[in-house]
Amino acid sequence: MNSELKRMIDEASRVVVFTGAGISTESGIPDFRSPGGLWTKMAPIDFNDFLRSAALRREAWRRKFEIDKTVQQADPNKGHMAIAKLVDMGIVAHVITQNIDNLHQNSGVPPEKIIELHGNGTYARCLDCGERYELEEVRAIFDETGECPECRACGGFIKSATVSFGQAMPEREMRRAEEATLACDLFVAIGSSLQVFPAAGFPIIAKRNGARLVILNREPTDLDSIADLVIHDEIGPTLAPIAMLN
Ligand code: NAD
Ligand code: ZN
Repeated sequence: MNSELKRMIDEASRVVVFTGAGISTESGIPDFRSPGGLWTKMAPIDFNDFLRSAALRREAWRRKFEIDKTVQQADPNKGHMAIAKLVDMGIVAHVITQNIDNLHQNSGVPPEKIIELHGNGTYARCLDCGERYELEEVRAIFDETGECPECRACGGFIKSATVSFGQAMPEREMRRAEEATLACDLFVAIGSSLQVFPAAGFPIIAKRNGARLVILNREPTDLDSIADLVIHDEIGPTLAPIAMLN
């Protein structure tokens, strides 16, 4: 058990947990920047490229369905379960996540306590009118025609309900994340390389506002130098004993 982390959580009155792709690697979902991560295999498709090119829209959907073979089978791991327990105990007030895999919801954290900065990959939306589409429906049309379907209501492009590079951040979620960050006295950043902004700005805001900052990552991050505690270790085995899961 990391007794320093335990002590800092015991001393805090309001904890915010901030997660990145690293919390889901123990569920079998690859992250972006680790060796073997998704970006070592392919460059991301920028939002403007998605808008501009039918071929890239097809490629984005092809990749999405490919990745979903893994993501849809994934279950929350010990790290997710430990966080869910700390939320249930009233210790963690909010979970701000960059992840789109729905595993915090699946671990039992109530939706109102989850702030998804980069959207959710378990459904799609029309980029123009916001109409929601289920992935099975998009997939059926894609498989049958080889084309990406267009919105029934307005003819707009349908895209996974996630935030791509170059795409605007969701305003409500950004506001909720800022409020949660300013209200906490302990901010725990877990499994994020802390390189993607504006998301990586939240640990900095927390620290400037007087909160303590903990970073849990098996590798060094860009913000280790401003953290009060840096834990270079695996996520599940570090968090499970803190939440008395094993
Ligand atoms: P990232 O890939 O940049 O960083 C992940 C970090 O987690 C790395 O620094 C790595 O060292 C660490 N890590 C991985 N597994 C770990 C483990 N078991 N224990 C300890 N540390 C571990 O991811 P990011 O910072 O979240 O930023 C990239 C973007 O990737 C985000 O915007 C997110 O939307 C997207 N993404 C999401 C998922 C998902 O939803 N599961 C998966 C891949 C990428
Ligand atoms: Zn539409």
